[in-house]
Formats: sequence, C-alpha cells, structure tokens
Amino acid sequence: MSKAPEKVVIIGSGPAAWTAAIYAARANLEPLVFEGEPSGTMLPGGQLMTTTEVENFPGYPEGITGPELVERIREQALRFGARSVMENVAGLDLSRHPFVLRPSYGEPVAAHSMIVATGANAQWLGVPGEERLAQSGGGVSACAVCDGALPVYRDQVLAVVGGGDSAMEEALYLTKFAREVVIVHRRDSFRASRVMAERVLAHPKIRVLWNRQVVEVLGEASITGVRLENTVTGEVGELAVGGLFVAIGHRPNTGFLGGQLDLHPSGYVVTPEPWRTVTSVPGVFAAGDVMDSYYRQAITAAGTGAMAALEAERWLAHHGFGESPVLETSEAPVQQLLEDELVVV
Ligand code: NAP
Repeated sequence: MSKAPEKVVIIGSGPAAWTAAIYAARANLEPLVFEGEPSGTMLPGGQLMTTTEVENFPGYPEGITGPELVERIREQALRFGARSVMENVAGLDLSRHPFVLRPSYGEPVAAHSMIVATGANAQWLGVPGEERLAQSGGGVSACAVCDGALPVYRDQVLAVVGGGDSAMEEALYLTKFAREVVIVHRRDSFRASRVMAERVLAHPKIRVLWNRQVVEVLGEASITGVRLENTVTGEVGELAVGGLFVAIGHRPNTGFLGGQLDLHPSGYVVTPEPWRTVTSVPGVFAAGDVMDSYYRQAITAAGTGAMAALEAERWLAHHGFGESPVLETSEAPVQQLLEDELVVV
C-alpha cells in the first residue's frame, strides 16, 4: 500500500454510486469506484440490472431498460475521469485514517474519504419459475412502483406476497391499474402497521388469501398463475394471475462493513443527520438503498449519491486533503474537527 491515499473511494455500482462518481470526478477528486464482481445471479449494477423497463427516471420519456440506464450513468462518470475496479471490497479498517480497504484480489487501498453505495437486494421466495420470469420480464417483480404501471399489468388479477408494510403499499398502489389485487400471506394476520392494514382490508379491489404460500410460479414466456399451498392444512391449489409482486422485504448489503458503521436493526446504514449522508464515522458517507429503506427508487438513490459526493468534497476541503484549500465554514472550525474526529496514523 505504497501509493498515496485516494481522495475518495466509492463502493457500489448502481445509480447512487455512479452519480456520486460523476460529482466527485467533476470536482477533480478522481474517485476510485469498486464496482463489485459478478457472483451467482448477481451482477454489478444493482437492482436495476434485473429491471426491464424503467419509466419513471426523469429524462427518458420513452422509458429505458434498467441495465442501459446504469450503463449510461456509468459512462458519464468514466467520461469525467472516475476509475473503476471490478472487485468487491472484502473488508476495511475504519478505525484509523486514512481508511484502509481490502479488495477481494488486489492490494489494499488507503482512502481519505469513502462513499458506501452498495444497495440492497430484494428478498425473493426462491420457488420454481420465479427467478426465470423475473429476469425475463415475464410478469414477476419485486417493485410495484417501478413496474406496476407497465401495460402488461393493466386490468389483470395481480398477486402480492407478504404481510408487512411493503406488501400493503404495493397492493394499494397496484389497485390503480389492476382488475383485482390478491394478497397472499403465510399467516392469519398482517405484520404491517395497523393503519396500512386497515386501508388494505377496506379496499374493494383487494382480497386476502390468509395462510397461503406460493410454491411455484406458473407460465412459460409470461406468468399465468401461481401454485399455492395452505400453510395450515397443506392443501395445494392454483390461482390464475397476470402478475406477481414479491414484497417480503429487502436486505441491505452491509455485511462487508464488519460492524464498523452504525446500522439500524434492519441492517441499513444510519445517517444520523436529516438531509445528510454522513455516517457514524466522519469521512464515510452513505448513499442509495444501503441507507434508504423508505423510497428505494433509482432517482432518489441518484439524488443521495450526488449529496454524498458533495459532502465528501466539503469534508475533504475542511480537513485540507488533496488540492482543495482548508475551508473554514459555519459547519465547524477546521482545527476543532481535526482534533475531535481524526486519528491520523
Ligand atoms: P417486513 O416488515 O419484514 O415484512 C415482510 C413480510 O414478508 C412479512 O409479513 C413476512 O411474513 C413476509 N415474508 C418474509 N419472508 C417470506 C417468505 N419466504 N415467504 C412468504 N412471506 C414471507 O418487510 P417490509 O414490509 O419490506 O418492511 C420493512 C420495514 O420498512 C418495516 O419496518 C416497515 O414498517 C417499513 N416500511 C414502511 C413503509 C411505510 O411506512 N409506508 C412502507 C414499506 C416499508 P411474516 O409476517 O409471517 O413474518
């Protein structure tokens, strides 16, 4: 690790990471982006890599596919000088400064600041037919707000799996387009907040199938139905549907942090200050779905990516790293920050 520390290292490869890279590159911070590596069914690029049409990202009136959108944001970042490494960050040390990141294959990298934008993964049921039809755009999705308005779902019977707030929200959203929404839940009561559950139960277009779990997704090119098992009696039946929305939770990709950043009980990175992306460790910022369990949209991820890069730039300037002058701003006196926050090794 003989090289000079990087000014900013960005970990991730979705809209948050690449938007942070655009801003950081344009601020002459020469960001190094750890894009990750393909593994199993996962590809660098995040959840957009398994999204067929994106119709709600501003600037694309005709829509754009998820992978193409990621590639365009990536190209924009590379054009301004962002550098990419196609490796995961296997571990890091945030207890000293500069921070040290350990890639899965390459040499350790030292960094003055870091942006964590490793996203979250939707949880899937893991039943036959699900993954194939989700990846081919055949009517299986984990995001109603992203996909529900597509023509293929109009006037269909749509199934939503789950009993939490996400499932309630997805079901309510889908009533705008669907003929009927059927919630399939594995127990006889919802986990969702009372107000959301009551809204769902009172909705004339929503029906609930209690004590049922999906054991197979049916259909070749497109979904035709789901095979359901009664979790109490074991009885198996079929339900004809034109779409399946799996809403059983998300898991943020924070395992590699090794507990060095404060996390919410659900695993999301804590960003304690409202409208800021700074984490529990000064100099480390978080953007996108890894810190946002609420909006989870490509555009909000991109927005927080821009915020994180601007914050990193200001933080570096505050501390006199890189070319930027040491700035005295209203946020904190520079000397105070250096004394309070940094253990420079
Ligand atoms: P969640 O609260 O963990 O609920 C997940 C649901 O999926 C549960 O009902 C669970 O069933 C079910 N489930 C899990 N694994 C399953 C499987 N393999 N097969 C079938 N069902 C399965 O997740 P969430 O709904 O995504 O919510 C996450 C957090 O975000 C919560 O704190 C929630 O309040 C919050 N949130 C808030 C809003 C809002 O306020 N507008 C919207 C969305 C989310 P069991 O109940 O049987 O465990």
